[in-house]
Amino acid sequence: MSGEVLLRGGLVVDLTGERRADVLVRDGAVVAVEVDIAPAAGWTVLDAAGCVVAPGLVDLHTHLRQPGREEAETVETGSRAAALGGYTTVVAMPNTEPAIDGAAVVREVQELAEKALCAVLPAGAITKGRRGEELAPMAEMAALGVRLFTDDGRGVQDARLMRRALEYAAGLGVTLAQHCEDERLAAGGHMHEGEWSSRLGMAGVPAEAEELMVARDLALVRLTGGRAHFQHLSTAGSVALVRAAKAAGGLAVSAEATPHHLSLTDAAVAGFDPVFKVNPPLRPQADVDAVRAGLADGTIDAIATDHAPHPQEDKERPFDQAPPGMLGLETALAVALTYLDLGVARVLALMSWQPARLVGVDAGPVAEGRAADLFVFDPTAEWVVDPTRSASRSRNNPYAGRRLAGRVRHTLYQGEPVVIDGQAQR
Ligand SMILES: [Zn+2]
Repeated sequence: MSGEVLLRGGLVVDLTGERRADVLVRDGAVVAVEVDIAPAAGWTVLDAAGCVVAPGLVDLHTHLRQPGREEAETVETGSRAAALGGYTTVVAMPNTEPAIDGAAVVREVQELAEKALCAVLPAGAITKGRRGEELAPMAEMAALGVRLFTDDGRGVQDARLMRRALEYAAGLGVTLAQHCEDERLAAGGHMHEGEWSSRLGMAGVPAEAEELMVARDLALVRLTGGRAHFQHLSTAGSVALVRAAKAAGGLAVSAEATPHHLSLTDAAVAGFDPVFKVNPPLRPQADVDAVRAGLADGTIDAIATDHAPHPQEDKERPFDQAPPGMLGLETALAVALTYLDLGVARVLALMSWQPARLVGVDAGPVAEGRAADLFVFDPTAEWVVDPTRSASRSRNNPYAGRRLAGRVRHTLYQGEPVVIDGQAQR
């Protein structure tokens, strides 16, 4: 986009620190970061007073549902929700129909992404059709720029196949992201197995279904020298395993946690509302506290949304028949600011530059010559979540009616203001 955009009166926060400055953008790049830049005729001037100006958020875990499930979400609607949430990059999970398991579907998503309101990076499947039987052609997908591979929605159950995948991925210089769940141990469960599942008489999934695979994959990373990223960690045991592995050193491991696993507990399931059904399931307070501690001490590298849209008719089924998943893109930053006591800069590290590094995206600093993928938010502005106003095609938002602090005001993608004053521009 040509033309100047001036972000005026904000506090710039990036990986180098914070400073009061106006930010001038031209032709998709930052051209000046200075105090009191005087606007010229024809510039678009966006008010950032009282706000933070930062590199755009990067989501490692977004379900955009396209191709195949366009009634739930599309690249366009999901990217609009992302832009409204302050994201300038999302990694699209490959559990589409068909799965993103070869060059043709990667290209299809990349073409759809050209018109999106943020960068959409397709993740590739580890195995063909995500069936867990045979490796997908990772090399041909890596050649198209795919950096993250996962069978998300499922973990790779076969340890020998996972070993080969880690060896193969190491040779390609890409990361394997794992949805850690032992399917046999988890079979038949619809929520966390514990006090609440007993009270409600519902079959549960024990924490160990996740922890077994985290432990197994850490052993396989040790064996292969591969690079593994643990998706949506949700239990105290998983956090402890990753913490110990990082402390021991020498392994290429990273991890993410979702906004809902740091803010909601399994007690939310008491009303049998399928909006609170998610995989991994919501856990007890002790696990929520452990996830927060893992984010605070660097065990967990990133907050990733696991934005998982579902049409209303699917989510209106009885709890045990409804599909798991929650929306997250439009509320993630506010949930993190509201429920974590870490301060703005740490939250931005977890949501912007740390996840960016894991997928090779440039996320700052905000400086002359850098790409103008930026966003502006008011860290204290309070709002009540209204799912009917979401840009997503789906409405399965677990925060409906909740008061959150932290509101996105403007988002610039490649220098173009795609969100102004909380309104998507296209
Ligand atoms: Zn998953």
